[in-house]
Order: sequence, then C-alpha cells, then structure tokens
Amino acid sequence: MSNTRFQALEAVLNREIPDIKLPSSKISDYFGVNVFDKKKMKEFLSSDAYSVIIDSIDNGVPIPRDMAEQVASSMKAWAIGKGATHYTHWFQPLTGTTAEKHDAFFEPTADGGAIERFSGDALSQQEPDASSFPSGGIRNTFEARGYTAWDPSSPAFIIGRTLCIPTVFVSYTGEALDYKVPLLKALNALDKAAVDVCHYFDKSIEKVNASLGIEQEYFLVDTALFNARPDLSLTGRTLFGHMSAKNQQLEDHYFGSIPSRVYAFMQDMETEALQLGIPLKTRHNEVAPSQFECAPIYEEINLAIDHNQLLMDIMDRVAQRHHFKVLLHEKPYAGINGSGKHNNWSLITNTGKNLLSPGKTPKNNLMFLAFFVNTIKAVHDHADLLRASIASVNNDHRLGANEAPPAIISIFLGSQLTEVLDEIDTSRLSKKIKEENSLWQGIPKIPQILKDNTDRNRTSPFAFTGNKFELRAVGSSANSASPMTILNLIMADQLKKFKYDVDKLIKKGEKKDVALMTIIKRYIKESRAIRFEGNGYSEEWEKEAEARGLANVKTTPKALDALITDKAELLFEETGVFTKREAHARHEILLDSFYKKLQIEARVIGELVMNIIIPAALSYQSKLVENVKGLKDIGLDKNSYEAQLDIINKISGHVNFLKQNVDEMIEERKKANKIDDLRERAIAYDEKVKTYFAPIRYHADKLETLVDDRLWPLPKFRELLFIK
Ligand code: ADP
Ligand code: MG
Repeated sequence: MSNTRFQALEAVLNREIPDIKLPSSKISDYFGVNVFDKKKMKEFLSSDAYSVIIDSIDNGVPIPRDMAEQVASSMKAWAIGKGATHYTHWFQPLTGTTAEKHDAFFEPTADGGAIERFSGDALSQQEPDASSFPSGGIRNTFEARGYTAWDPSSPAFIIGRTLCIPTVFVSYTGEALDYKVPLLKALNALDKAAVDVCHYFDKSIEKVNASLGIEQEYFLVDTALFNARPDLSLTGRTLFGHMSAKNQQLEDHYFGSIPSRVYAFMQDMETEALQLGIPLKTRHNEVAPSQFECAPIYEEINLAIDHNQLLMDIMDRVAQRHHFKVLLHEKPYAGINGSGKHNNWSLITNTGKNLLSPGKTPKNNLMFLAFFVNTIKAVHDHADLLRASIASVNNDHRLGANEAPPAIISIFLGSQLTEVLDEIDTSRLSKKIKEENSLWQGIPKIPQILKDNTDRNRTSPFAFTGNKFELRAVGSSANSASPMTILNLIMADQLKKFKYDVDKLIKKGEKKDVALMTIIKRYIKESRAIRFEGNGYSEEWEKEAEARGLANVKTTPKALDALITDKAELLFEETGVFTKREAHARHEILLDSFYKKLQIEARVIGELVMNIIIPAALSYQSKLVENVKGLKDIGLDKNSYEAQLDIINKISGHVNFLKQNVDEMIEERKKANKIDDLRERAIAYDEKVKTYFAPIRYHADKLETLVDDRLWPLPKFRELLFIK
C-alpha cells in the first residue's frame, strides 16, 4: 500500500466542484419551508387551538391535553404531506451535542394493515432510554428514566424524513439533564426582573426577552486528509504538525474571495439552514487559512440557541456531501487562530424597544444607562461564573493564549461611553444636578452612533458594540446555552437588587429619578475594576488585572470551582435556575468530560508516536544508513556522508526523546487514573499529563522536517490548510 498521505492527496486533487442549484432565486420563496411555524399552524390548526398555542409560545401557558391532541394531528398532517415518515424528540443533553431517537408514525392495526399515528402524548412527552447521557449522578442506572417534554416556544421542523420536536430533557425526579431547562428558567427570572425595572420608565412594557445573534467560526478540511490524520478524526484537532511555511502572516485569507469548493458547500449549507428557518445572513473567510464564519440575524435567545445547535449539525451533514469535514474545535491547528462563537446579546421589550440602545431623550438615556450599568455590575460581581460557563478543555487553548480573549473577564465600552460613565462618576455631576436643580441636565448626552462601534477592541472578552454586548470568549463548539444561562441569570439577579436599592431610596423620600441616578452612580463606582479599554492580550494587562483583583483562571478544572461556591449556590437558589444538586451534577459532568478528553488525546499521542511517527523516522534513518554503507563500500571517505550521519544522529536523538516521554506520560496517566477525587484527577491530567503534549509534539514536528517527504504518512499543515 502506498503512503496514506499520498492517497489522500490524490483523492483531493480529483474532487469535482458540484453545481449547486438553489430552490429559487429568492430566499423568501423557501425560507422556513421545513418549519411548522406560526404561519403553518394558522393554516393547519383550528382557531381555538391556534390561540392556545400562541399563548403558550408567548406566555408559557401549558397546553391542555385535548389541544395537544389536535396540534399533534395537524403537525402529523403537515409533516406527512412533506414526506416525513418518523418523528423524534430533539434535545440538548449535557454531552454538548444534540440527541434524537426516531420513531415511525406508522402503527400496525388489528386487521393486519397499518396507519400513521401521532398522539398528543407522543408530542408532549417521551421517555427516551437515556441511561447513558451524562447526569452527574442525578440518575442512578437503576432509576435511569429521563423525560423529554415539548418546548412549544421553539417550532418543530423536518430534517430529511424526520419531524423533529424541540424538547427539554429532565430526570424522573424533575432535575434538568439538558441545557434548555436552566436557560428557560433564567429567561423567566430575567423577564420578571427586567419588566419591574422597565416600569420606572414605561408602564406599558409587559415582557422582556433576551436577543441573541451567534457568529459561528469553523475550519474546513477535505475528508480524505481528515481521515488520514487519526488525531483530527479522534480528537477534532491536530496533535502534531510542523507549521506551514506560509500560514496567516500575510493576512490574505481574511475577507478574501471564497474558494469555489467552499462556496458550493456554503450555498448548499445555507439553503438547508434557510429552509429550516435559520436566518443566515453573513458569510466570509476568517483570519486563518481554511477558516470561515457565518452569522445569522439575531433572534429570540431560546430559538437562536436551538438554531445554532441545529446549524452545527447541518454543517456537518452537508459537508459530507462535499467531501469536507467541518472542524468546530476551538483550536484545530497550533500556531494559527482558533475558532470562537461570538454571542451578541441584548434585551428587547414586547414593545420592540432594545434596552441596550442609547435613546434620543434624557429619559430614554436614563433607561439605557440603568440596563447598561446593571449589565456591567452583574458581570463585575459574577465574572467567575461567566468564566466557568465558557470553560472547556478545547477553549483552554484559546483563552489566555495570545489570540483570543484572555481568561481575564473584562468589559470594553468604547471611549464615548467610558466618558459618559466617568462623568456620572465624578462629583461634577451631583454639583450640576444641585446647581440646576434638574436631573435631566445632569445626564450626559449619548450620541446615537457610537464611533467605537466600527473601531472596537477585538481583544476584549465582553465588548459593548453600539446596541448589544458581545461575549467573544465562547468556544466554537460550545452550546451557547451555557454562557447565556449564566449571563441572563446574573442579570436577573442584578436587576432585582437594583430595584431593591432604588425603592429603598424612594421610600426614604428621594425623587424617583434622583434615586435611579444615585444607584447607577454607585454601581459605576463599584464595578470600575472590570472596565478595560486597552489591549487584552498584553502582559501589562495581566499585571494590571492582578493589581485590580480580577481573576485570571487559565484552566478549566479551576475555573469550574465557581459553579459550586456558596455565593453561586445562593444566586442559583434565588433565581431558581439550578438546585444545589443540579449545580454539583453539572460541575461533575464538566470535570469528567475535561479529563476524559485529555485522556483520549494522550492516548492518541502515544499511538501516533509509537505506530506512525517513530516508524516513519526509522525507515528513513535505515535508508540513510544503507546509503552511508554504500558510499563507504565504494571507498568514499567521511566527508561524503557527513550530512547523512548528522541526520541519522538527529533522528536517533528525537526518537529517544519521544519514546522516553511517551513512556513517562503513560505512567503519569496511570497515576492520575487512580485519583478518586474528580477535581484532583482533572487537575492531574491538566498539570501532569498534558504538560507532556508540547515537548512530545516539538520533537515529532522536528522529525517531520527531517524525514523524506515521500515517507511521511500524516498530511502536513500546508496540505490541510492550503489544498483546495
Ligand atoms: P460584526 O461586525 O461582529 O459582524 P454585526 O453588527 O454584523 O457585527 O452583528 C453580528 C451579530 O450580531 C449578528 O448575528 C447580528 O444578528 C447580531 N446582532 C445585531 N444586533 C443585535 C441585537 N440587538 N441583539 C442581539 N444580537 C444582535
Ligand atoms: Mg462580532
């Protein structure tokens, strides 16, 4: 058999670019055709059932059984009409992916025939055999029951021939086993707290929801090359590979023209996504070679997260048809940029007002300032939780490394809003209010168009971008529900405290507006430390952040501690988002997945070194030895084989290092596996096992630069990144 790498390269060179036919030249003709959305419900449901369902979607009112029956039967009619044969409850277990178990509509009848059936019960609730989803000890295997229950606020959709019903996933005892339940609880808490604060300004507001727009970064690589790299196919990232001579230094890929094969994939993927109602709007090349990004128009947050989960799945499936593999890993290639998932977040009222958009009038500005400053205060007070919510073994490669937002949580506001807050913070303001006896004179003017909106700080993990905050530290493969649950719940808690503080002043006889301004001013002072406008990647910032008392937790096992502090427990209980048991279960699941992923990587490193890299190096070395012998045989002296001897020696040096370090790493793994305490085991994997990865890689990559190209079996970085 010839070298696997060359076989893969040959396959890539023979790829054809598929001709993509769009369903129509107008996206509006096919947007959402595979979704049982409000429009289709109206068409398929009686008007009674329709209003019940709308009430449930908008206000969370439970759907009565008889109505569920009707909804199920019309959903079935619609789905069968579109060729669906099966249905599934689609949910988001804590593995981070989505899960589905398909059941056929068809049921045999007594007379030997069959009918298509889908009952209200089958729609509303299912009991998947879910004993092997992570539960962090919540479900013992003898009581493995977990239930999925329909979430009507996210519409059903069809993929292929399956009707998918978005659901929550809970245990027999009612505890959350998924990402959706806590998110919905956090949104509920946020709604209440935010509406209360809105009422200081506008009594007509009845509901506040969070909006979210998720920018998704990813890499593409040809399937043949992917399959020739066991590290990529087993861990999602390359564990070896010498940097390509050309990488991203010329910055010629970013926003460059999209390669034809990639363009075909994008069109195909977008068409599927649009038909599923995912409002994809933007596509472009990203900074690193073979890295791309897509972004939708923002949506109500629960839907936006479902859509992003669905999108990751669609990308993967459509890519197969194009002989591509989508790499959603946060750091598939060392030495070039990794991938993130920017979460653009804001708060929108039922009256259509964006609460994080500066207003035209002073009163509106005060309302904006209230929500703006409370966000800053919430993040300041619970930065540790936000950090924990984005922690994962993959994201550890980005956070704190010199490219992505640092592991230090800070907030960028831009110079204009910084000035506004500073002005409020100084004594000048109170003087102004006193002198002019009018609060409105004291509120600084906030320009509608903020200049920093275009020239914003890319190094900040949490940046204000004109009318929304952008959390940039989320990993590209993460479920955004994790950070968004935390962000919305800390905001809910903060707004509740704000109302309490303001009301206290009002009760003491203070005028409402002055009370609001007084508390805003206090919060600005109290949350000052979290605001940072400078370069987040710099060493100076690390030092300054430390002096300011900000945390800089670089690794996951330690970052996760924040989930189980007394402070977090109280917060979770007060907002009703996690019980103590649920928080501890999540903590455990995250630690478990952390060390297991490192365990897999360590094993793959060992296998590749021993079975692929060392053998390749030795076979080249043998050739050199033969060559030297031959030269000696024909009577040449040492001068003629000096270079060969040098390479032979170097190869031996690297091979010795590799063998010895792989052996030591295995020993450390054995020791770590024996540690009972999960957190300690995760830390041991991080600090004792993972520390071998870089030196082993260094020597393996050196071998790559020495060994005859024709004998090297693993596709090289230049091929993974540049072959189109
Ligand atoms: P960028 O320069 O980061 O690409 P954009 O303005 O194009 O910035 O927006 C990026 C993302 O932010 C998009 O997904 C968009 O839908 C989202 N977005 C815009 N406005 C809001 C908002 N009010 N709430 C939530 N997300 C928003
Ligand atoms: Mg962005």
